[in-house]
Amino acid sequence: MKVPKGRNCRICKKRFKPLTMYEWWCCEDHRDELVTKLAAEARQKRILKQEKSRKKEAQQERQSLKVRKLALQPDSHFKKQAQQAFNQFIRLRDHDQPCISCGETNPPDLHGGQWDCGHFKTVGGFPELRFVEKNAYRQCKSCNAGSAKHGAKAATVAQQYEQTLVRRFGQELVDWLNGPHEMTHYRRDDFIRIRDEYRAKAKELKKKLEAA
Ligand SMILES: [Zn+2]
Ligand SMILES: [Zn+2]
Repeated sequence: MKVPKGRNCRICKKRFKPLTMYEWWCCEDHRDELVTKLAAEARQKRILKQEKSRKKEAQQERQSLKVRKLALQPDSHFKKQAQQAFNQFIRLRDHDQPCISCGETNPPDLHGGQWDCGHFKTVGGFPELRFVEKNAYRQCKSCNAGSAKHGAKAATVAQQYEQTLVRRFGQELVDWLNGPHEMTHYRRDDFIRIRDEYRAKAKELKKKLEAA
């Protein structure tokens, strides 16, 4: 290869005549300056690379911690998440419906929020219906709290609930809800699947409602 007749100094950009192919400086000072500059650039690059790999490692560590933490969670953790997602979907689905029991459309603000998702057949007594949409409706906090207890209020709430179901959907639905039903045997994976399914359904419905 031929040594070029002239090239620009990498430091001062001045034109000079190199003596060899590898000379990129016009003078010794600029040679030193260039060597220092290239070394600094290389160092910087190394630091960036190290930082990147450190960040990646930290992220992997966090990820594996998350996985280990989830693995340690009891099934009830996912059951709770699935129920929360299901209930949220029901409240959204019934967003324009009055309380299924008392018919209130604007209940007083109790316990932080106005609405619950109330199951006709309770989740405690009839766990096989805990994720059945036809068994759950928007209910005001007061009625939902009442239906959990025994006594006169609970009986009234349940009665009103049933009357509304008959009026809105017919006696067949109530008969069907009253059973019998096959027992479900939900496992961890089922709760996770149900949770994800209802989170997605709620998200989609929310989007639709906001667009409307
Ligand atoms: Zn120079
Ligand atoms: Zn109510």
